[in-house]
Amino acid sequence: MAVQLFEPVATGDLVSLSHDLRYAPIVASLLTLEQAHELVLRHARPLAAELVGISEAAGRVSAEDVRARVDLPPFASSAMDGFAVRSVDLPGRLRIAGESAAGRPFGSTVEPGCAVAISTGAIVPDGADAVVPIENVVGNDNTVEMSEAAMPGAHVRPRGGDVAAGELVVPVGVTLTPPRLAAAAASGVAELFCARRPSVSVLATGSELVAPGEELQAGQIYETNGLMLSSSLAAAGVAVSTEPPVADDADALREALERGLAADVLVTSGGVSVGEHDLVREAERELGVEEVFWRVAIKPGKPVSFGVRGDTLVFGLPGNPVSTLVGCELFVKPALRALQGLPDPLPQFELGQLATALRRNGERDEFVRARSRVDDGTIVLEPVIGQESHMIVRSSAADALVHIPRGNGELAAGTSVRWLRLGG
Ligand code: AMP
Ligand code: MG
Repeated sequence: MAVQLFEPVATGDLVSLSHDLRYAPIVASLLTLEQAHELVLRHARPLAAELVGISEAAGRVSAEDVRARVDLPPFASSAMDGFAVRSVDLPGRLRIAGESAAGRPFGSTVEPGCAVAISTGAIVPDGADAVVPIENVVGNDNTVEMSEAAMPGAHVRPRGGDVAAGELVVPVGVTLTPPRLAAAAASGVAELFCARRPSVSVLATGSELVAPGEELQAGQIYETNGLMLSSSLAAAGVAVSTEPPVADDADALREALERGLAADVLVTSGGVSVGEHDLVREAERELGVEEVFWRVAIKPGKPVSFGVRGDTLVFGLPGNPVSTLVGCELFVKPALRALQGLPDPLPQFELGQLATALRRNGERDEFVRARSRVDDGTIVLEPVIGQESHMIVRSSAADALVHIPRGNGELAAGTSVRWLRLGG
């Protein structure tokens, strides 16, 4: 078992651990968020890279420095619809010697006293050194009158003006956003090495869960977390498979967990607290999962567990839907970013100001759901009403997760705080 020795940050957390002590890590108190992050990153090593066609690469993470195969533009091209000319001939009346259209070059040299009709993006023919926009010429029959001089190079996009062959187009370790994909394609890249997409298995646990659409029987609630996790992680660019929810039954749990352990990452919700029916960690232990940590000094989401079996990372998120949401943002998404080789996988906090005073929690870092707005150029964060961890409907009105570090007293309105954007 992976055992970690850390300074406890809170006392009084040793209560009601008895049925877990057989397999709990030897430190039965809370890890700090920073310690938990360090442990997750220690185990979330980048997956092997694979060669991916450019049309399949959207949302992947580059695993190599991608360089231009060609100059861009690949030839001197026109920035305007108009006429390609020799600037020394202007002003004057020029004979139209032909046309250079996009993809259909003129094919010979512009002779003195001649102009070539040209469209945007077409090759500026040999001999010509400027383009006169169509708006600035008076044409009749096969001549054009140009009353003003043109600077050499006017309205000509030089070859390689965007990028030269061999130059860096997309660096290693970035997400292939649409503009980056476009940049790679434009400079002739047909395939590139990307990190393998992690596979993620999502499993909601709890005997009370039924699917929306069914009639609720006594004690039942609608399954929320599996849906939230699957959609959130799919949007994060990983391959998600969602297991049907499983009851709090040791055999059924083991069977479902074993299937989920085939993925690179298994994310469960529910069943990791200290209740009689919280069987997930025990079932995982029986399946050979080594627990790396359990319980972190955060609110909500304290009983979060993290373990490994072989190369599979295993996250046990507490079942209250807001705890699941917070655990996913704080632990699962960072791990997925690390697996894909992103260099800054930890949550990327922004800065904002509290709209109202908030009491700090003496033992745990709190993650408060809030709405962000811009006030006089400053981001102001207004906590939503209803901060309990079962209140997913109230949380769904928030677009921000505000980090209130543990400590004494309160943070006054206007205090600068770190926050994470929600909604992905
Ligand atoms: P647990 O972590 O299993 O003790 O669950 C804590 C609370 O979250 C309980 O009220 C559960 O009913 C609720 N819960 C657990 N899993 C889900 C889920 N998938 N969807 C909605 N609520 C859940
Ligand atoms: Mg439960």
